[in-house]
Amino acid sequence: MNVLVLNCGSSSLKYQLINMNDESVMAKGLCERIGIEGSRLKHQPQGKEDVIFEEYMEDHSAAIKMVLDALVSPECGVIKSMKEINAIGHRVVHGGEYFSGSVIITQEVKDALVKCSELAPLHNPANIIGIEACEKTMPGIPQVGVFDTAFHQTMPERAYLYAIPYEYYEKYGIRRYGFHGTSHRFVSEEAAKMMDRPLDQSKIITCHLGNGGSICAVRYGKSIDTTMGFTPLEGLVMGTRSGDVDASVVTFLMEKENLTPKQMDEILNKKSGVLGISGVSSDFRDIESASEHGNPRAEAALDIFAYKVAKNIGSYAAAMNGVDAIVFTAGLGENSGTTRRVICDYLGYLGVHIDSYNNSLRGKAMEISAPDSRIRVFVIPTNEELVIARDTKELLDK
Ligand code: ADP
Repeated sequence: MNVLVLNCGSSSLKYQLINMNDESVMAKGLCERIGIEGSRLKHQPQGKEDVIFEEYMEDHSAAIKMVLDALVSPECGVIKSMKEINAIGHRVVHGGEYFSGSVIITQEVKDALVKCSELAPLHNPANIIGIEACEKTMPGIPQVGVFDTAFHQTMPERAYLYAIPYEYYEKYGIRRYGFHGTSHRFVSEEAAKMMDRPLDQSKIITCHLGNGGSICAVRYGKSIDTTMGFTPLEGLVMGTRSGDVDASVVTFLMEKENLTPKQMDEILNKKSGVLGISGVSSDFRDIESASEHGNPRAEAALDIFAYKVAKNIGSYAAAMNGVDAIVFTAGLGENSGTTRRVICDYLGYLGVHIDSYNNSLRGKAMEISAPDSRIRVFVIPTNEELVIARDTKELLDK
């Protein structure tokens, strides 16, 4: 079975065609600037040269058509015809309280996604457009939705309810949902395998640290708490997002600076985080380099970031009454040995010891804790596309 995995953004579309017989990636790529001048498709077929198509894509249907043409092209294709695509798996950001697992897409599911759009106005509409574009360009091929929020639907009420009037939860669904669920699920399962320990007997803290970042407490295979909340703004200090701030700062600033809700939202989501503190960049590589050159605000940004991660790890060790393993994943978590070291230096009280040599390596799943570490620490490259493809296959096999 071949599964086409799609991640549709408002003006972009990422894809991977995965052969589920051996879980190999046959081709992957990215359409950018959909509906904007200068659209392009970068197509990377396995075993052939990468190709870039610079051609205008009016909408997601046009983008999907271009992807299909590339996949079946005699020059850069990897399949002979569209018939070799057996199913499509979509990454969907918000499933609200409707979905606690992946589902085959039906009209009912689409109706629920529309209802969730208010909760993720930047993401869900693009996901729905992607689903409808596939219906148009690949009629009859089954589609599956895999949600960023689904894994966290096991959080207990004490973890997901905000202490604001209950009526807002009832009226607007205001609660903590959590995100990056597909990634937290994947790396926690991998960590249990690497420990050779049943997942349902393991307490694992997973740290997904990329441009956006979140930590999850995975007890016995289920998410019981996570740092992102109603939106992906809550929790850690991120590339451009503030993470937790006293809500009064928001009303104070809006009054002082005469800001609209939209402007305030932009400040918290796009101008804050390590970018806001350092004034240098939202990219952790730039900040690490500025900090090495003695830039005090870049130093402060990294310090604040790592401190916050360490505090959350501590709080989740408490929430689970213990922890067997800590996992680092995503761009920063997988690649920055320095950041992992600084975070783990806070965790001496838990008996965490890092092996400096292993912590300096990169590129594959590995244990970085020293043999005498009381808690095992792993770096595990995340693979959300593979999870989406596996869920898609599993649902269709049923
Ligand atoms: P996204 O949330 O956009 O999926 P990624 O998981 O790709 O993000 O992570 C991107 C972040 O990872 C960037 O801030 C980047 O600087 C950081 N990163 C990637 N490689 C390194 C590295 N070698 N050292 C430090 N940071 C890195």
